[in-house]
Amino acid sequence: MDELYQEIILDHYRRPRNRDGCPGCAVSVHQDNPLCGDEITLGLEVEDGTIVRVGYEGQGCSISTASASMMAEVVEGQSVSRARELSETVRRMMHGEAPGADLGDLMALEGVARFPVRVKCALLAWTALNEALGKAGER
Ligand code: ZN
Repeated sequence: MDELYQEIILDHYRRPRNRDGCPGCAVSVHQDNPLCGDEITLGLEVEDGTIVRVGYEGQGCSISTASASMMAEVVEGQSVSRARELSETVRRMMHGEAPGADLGDLMALEGVARFPVRVKCALLAWTALNEALGKAGER
């Protein structure tokens, strides 16, 4: 199982999805994780309560890059409320508080919860997503 999860993370790290910075997107936020040197700029476009576009750019370790890629792939096309729900579940999973959660490929991140210093790497993109959703809601 662990091996499969490692492959998922490596696949997203080598071929990150939605890594285009979301040019022209209405909302853009920046987050960084100085502990590791990860950085992300996340762009988001919400229409009628649905995330129609999401993209990011930045640099970071394999965990932060894979997490951003998975996050973008999973939330694009979702409603804002569903994206918030997913984000909360991922946050709880990374703190070991969501046993039995079923998050598809995102479960690959669960193993990272065993390494507290890497939890911030895994959650960076989700923190950016929350901030971007908050900004999108203000408009
Ligand atoms: Zn990192």
